[in-house]
Amino acid sequence: MDFNYSAEQEAYRAQVRMWLEANQPPPLTPAERERLNEDVLWERNKRWHKKLYAAGWVGLNWPREYGGRGATFIEQVIFQQELGRLGLPMGINVLGIIMTGPALMQWGTEAQKKRYLQPIIAADEIWCEGMSEPSAGSDLAAMQTRADLQGDYFAVNGQKVWTTHAHRSDFCQLFVRTDPDVPKHKGLSCLLVDMHSPGVTVRPLKQISGDAEFNEIFFEDVKVPKENLLGPLNAGWQVLVATLMHERFGISETIGGTEVILAQLAELAKIVPLNGAATAAEDDDIRQQIAQFAIEAAAKKYNGLRALTKRLKGQQPGAESSIGKLVSTELSQRMTKFSMRLLGAYATLEGRSLFAPEGDWMRRILSSESLTIAGGSSAVQKNMIGERILQLPKG
Ligand SMILES: Cc1cc2nc3c(=O)[nH]c(=O)nc-3n(C[C@H](O)[C@H](O)[C@H](O)COP(=O)(O)OP(=O)(O)OC[C@H]3O[C@@H](n4cnc5c(N)ncnc54)[C@H](O)[C@@H]3O)c2cc1C
Repeated sequence: MDFNYSAEQEAYRAQVRMWLEANQPPPLTPAERERLNEDVLWERNKRWHKKLYAAGWVGLNWPREYGGRGATFIEQVIFQQELGRLGLPMGINVLGIIMTGPALMQWGTEAQKKRYLQPIIAADEIWCEGMSEPSAGSDLAAMQTRADLQGDYFAVNGQKVWTTHAHRSDFCQLFVRTDPDVPKHKGLSCLLVDMHSPGVTVRPLKQISGDAEFNEIFFEDVKVPKENLLGPLNAGWQVLVATLMHERFGISETIGGTEVILAQLAELAKIVPLNGAATAAEDDDIRQQIAQFAIEAAAKKYNGLRALTKRLKGQQPGAESSIGKLVSTELSQRMTKFSMRLLGAYATLEGRSLFAPEGDWMRRILSSESLTIAGGSSAVQKNMIGERILQLPKG
């Protein structure tokens, strides 16, 4: 594996960096900071998304015919790295872009690709992912939501849960049971569902951080046209596995933020007093802990390059995405929580705190658990690594 980027790629990186630095969103206004919540962040991210899209930075490596820029995959990755370096968000409609879009390109009919892909990257239509149910989370194949083919439409009945941004969504990539009489992995299908259809009810779920980013969705006799089937009938499990691999790859790619958190902790250690010393950085244990985080972040980066090499060879993401997802999310969580050792009681303050004027550590600590569960919990990722990469027997 060659760890160096070509001169052409470095020139491209410089171009991306210059644009991002000149156009990045302004800092939060005092009013926004005062009422910092999910709505405020969504509106900011939406403005940012439109700016990125207008400049051609969204869906970089998607084909031009579907609204993308037709850039190479490595150019997409470099862009992602530069976003991460500045701690900037991708914009909105992230699930549509990292999951539904790639699934449509892999499984969609030409008509479906033409209809849905461009509005996804423009964020003119927001998408959510309807997989988990109250009794089917880690074991997704146990899902019960039914879709019965009745002439030229499916009648959908059932419930989904933890559906991120369902309350903002226009469409749902919905996984349903279309044949209850075969082994559970074999009777699933994937539907593209208009969230404004009669019979769809969305109820927000409030999180520990106070936000309500995800929801329950109830489907009561929702009519979904037959042509909205994505992939073959009863082949939904294959579509689901491919969609999840894109999500895991996307999560580990979009958490370029580990380097940002690492730099913030190192800066924080230089300004907060600890145990009678003028700064926490004078404490051996603190220095060693931050160095340990730096080592793990570097290991994560090089493992990510292994997954990247596979993508560059034109292969779809595989079980190695589980390593990236597991390590990125667990490391981010441990680093975020470490801020409590540096800040002590100040870490519990919401919003701005004395030592973290740009911080908001409490909110980040509370939400740092979420990505270790979303997209398959850490325990489930370890099972996949054990079985598919280490070839260990099933537990
Ligand atoms: C922030 C966030 C966003 C999400 N967004 C979406 C979304 O948009 N769409 C969607 O469909 N879902 C979404 N989810 C749901 C997510 O995919 C599930 O929460 C996750 O798959 C775990 O399922 P569960 O909550 O039902 O827990 P369970 O499957 O009930 O697991 C409970 C515990 O048991 C452990 N466990 C379960 N099975 C095993 C096993 N075989 N071996 C070892 N341990 C095991 C788990 O690790 C966990 O600790 C989201 C979740 C979060 C946190």
